[in-house]
Amino acid sequence: MVLPLLLVIPLLGLSNQMFGIFKEESYICLNLIIQTLIIVFTMAIAIQSWLVFSHLLSNQTLYIGNLFFIIALLELVSMVTAQNPMAETQYMEMFLHIVMRLCLSIGFLFIILKQKKRLTMNYRIYTYGSSLLFVLVTLFIVYLSSKYSLLEEQLVYKADAIVHLLSAVLQGATIVILSKYIKQLPKRVMWLISAAIYLIISDIFFIIIKDWESIWGFSALIYQFFAFYFFLKAIYYTTVEKPYQQLLKIKQDLEQSQQELLFQAYHDDITQLPNEHLLLKTLKEDLNANNHQKAIIAIEIDRLAAIRSSIGISYSNKMMKLVAERIQAILPPHYFATKLREGQFIIYVNHVKTCEELLQFCLNLKSAMQKPLQVQLFSLNGNLNIGIALHEEDCSDEEFLMHAQLAMREASQIPQRFLFYKPYMSNGIADRILIEQELHKALANEEFYLDFQPQVNLKTGKIESVEALVRWRHPTRGFVSPELFIPIAEESGLIIPLGKWILETACSQAKTWEEQGLPPMKVAVNLSLGQLFQQDLVQMVQEILQRTNLEPKYLQLEITESMTMNIDQMTQLLHELKALGIQIAVDDFGTGYSSLSYLKDFPIDCLKIDRTFVRNIQHNPNDEALVSMILSMAKHLRLKVVAEGIEEVEQLAFLIDGDCDYIQGYLFSKPISAEQISNNFKDLHNRASDILTKLKYKEDYII
Ligand code: C2E
Ligand code: CA
Ligand code: CA
Repeated sequence: MVLPLLLVIPLLGLSNQMFGIFKEESYICLNLIIQTLIIVFTMAIAIQSWLVFSHLLSNQTLYIGNLFFIIALLELVSMVTAQNPMAETQYMEMFLHIVMRLCLSIGFLFIILKQKKRLTMNYRIYTYGSSLLFVLVTLFIVYLSSKYSLLEEQLVYKADAIVHLLSAVLQGATIVILSKYIKQLPKRVMWLISAAIYLIISDIFFIIIKDWESIWGFSALIYQFFAFYFFLKAIYYTTVEKPYQQLLKIKQDLEQSQQELLFQAYHDDITQLPNEHLLLKTLKEDLNANNHQKAIIAIEIDRLAAIRSSIGISYSNKMMKLVAERIQAILPPHYFATKLREGQFIIYVNHVKTCEELLQFCLNLKSAMQKPLQVQLFSLNGNLNIGIALHEEDCSDEEFLMHAQLAMREASQIPQRFLFYKPYMSNGIADRILIEQELHKALANEEFYLDFQPQVNLKTGKIESVEALVRWRHPTRGFVSPELFIPIAEESGLIIPLGKWILETACSQAKTWEEQGLPPMKVAVNLSLGQLFQQDLVQMVQEILQRTNLEPKYLQLEITESMTMNIDQMTQLLHELKALGIQIAVDDFGTGYSSLSYLKDFPIDCLKIDRTFVRNIQHNPNDEALVSMILSMAKHLRLKVVAEGIEEVEQLAFLIDGDCDYIQGYLFSKPISAEQISNNFKDLHNRASDILTKLKYKEDYII
């Protein structure tokens, strides 16, 4: 915008010197060139607007196109008539020029004042048609008035000066109006303002013009030409450049979102690791590509389902993320880590040099997991179960993967928690899936029932409590061991409704015995980890106690050591349960590999020594030492001790020696039905006293 103003200075200052530079004929020629260019530009604008995409067609674009269509036609006629050196043609040229400038300034202002609105393509034909008609009518009038000299020549010159003055003023108004939009549409407005400024200068030159074939006339045309150039730029920008840029942006966005979609399709959104789709794709492409030994390492977080139902999905996802980070931190470069939807990590190794390499990786992983995982307030131990499968010939990608997963399942049963796949692991896999499906129906079909195993007080020889043990009588399979289906119920979440049913049935049974007149008996009910973190556990226990009308002191809940993982949360929960007045026992004590620090924080009443220790006390001095230690520790902590799995008198003798409180085992009674307990209570009682008196006698004898 500054440039045109700067250019005016030399023109004004040197006009006299420059006046004679070109001869008149040269000016005619130069003007002709500029006029031709002006026609080209104005036509270009008209065509540009005509060709605009239908979705971009607005009244403004269309009017600008029409305006320049009119100007182009008028200029064309004016240029053609100028070639004819008759006096009337000069008059005509002048006349046309006036009409053109009038149209331009009024039209320009009119257009920017008009509210922008979308138009359909039909409007193009109407408006361009009307414009053509307008030009024809104008030409006709101009022709008539020049032919019959309706207006005096002097008047026309005056009119020309007035029109230029008027258009300069209108152009000024246009600039003022346009400048309001400069922030919204900087590029377009700048070009339009530039066009207006150039037009004003051109107007001024036209006013002071003495002769068209002079430097002034030529400059006026040049400025007009630049003004049109800026119009063209503005139109080009709105009809071509901007839509193109938008299109480009849309295309880029589309490409980016496509890439994101592709990434999402092949990656896990929690850990950002590749997912099963990418894993299976890679396996398909890679398995038979070369003869290198290949391996899959399947990794799961031990008891993930229970952890998930306890701390919630979002925290368990965070835990998952932390585990993924630890795996990635120690991952050798050619190991391909992926995460499956079910929360397992699968690592594919496409070139195994030695099996030791895989073992070393597992050991590294174990030590990387030693530090507890900090998820918000929880400090979680992420024990991993790891299964490794080596690729065998004729083994499909899915079988290969399943082998690693089977080894991983087996690994969860052993202390070191990692195993190589062995063919025997494949037996009964389909069964497990079936069982899970059947479990869902079993509760509704009333296929579950409870057995009760008496616990005998060694001091009094009386049966003072029983442990409730769930049983599944399957319609076709027959009896299914809880050791088989409880873990499946835990994984599938079915343990929550099943656990509730067990608790309610056990409590109402205890009440029934009481009503039948049996001596008061405590009932011990096993709790699963998943149940323990169930949101409303305390409320549920309370409601069941109220419903069954059982005194809380006759209910004992058995938790396992592995549940002590999250000490802070457990302490609170157990205190709440204790506050109900019930008893709490730690089951399978000694097998959980956990620190004993929880014993001082938890409100525990009783420890149950696991039967694996009791089994070997006569033969294994280590187990003997362990049981003695547990017994004396329990004494110091003022906890009662129940010894489980007592099958032989020798075991019993040892426990009596160690001052054990209660005994539970086949020696006294197997788990039996509720009816057997009520019907044979006396017999059971006598049998217990019998065994104990015999033992006492033996003891006496020894002494
Ligand atoms: P557990 O809680 O340690 O239950 C004791 C298991 O030892 C029972 O096996 C019982 O039948 C068995 N047992 C008792 N005395 C002897 C003995 O002298 N010798 C031998 N060899 N075994 C004896 P069962 O009923 O098969 O239960 C196995 C496990 O299944 C239980 O171990 C417990 O972890 C789980 N379970 C059983 N019932 C329930 C239940 O109602 N809820 C939950 N959550 N888990 C249960
Ligand atoms: Ca138990
Ligand atoms: Ca036990």
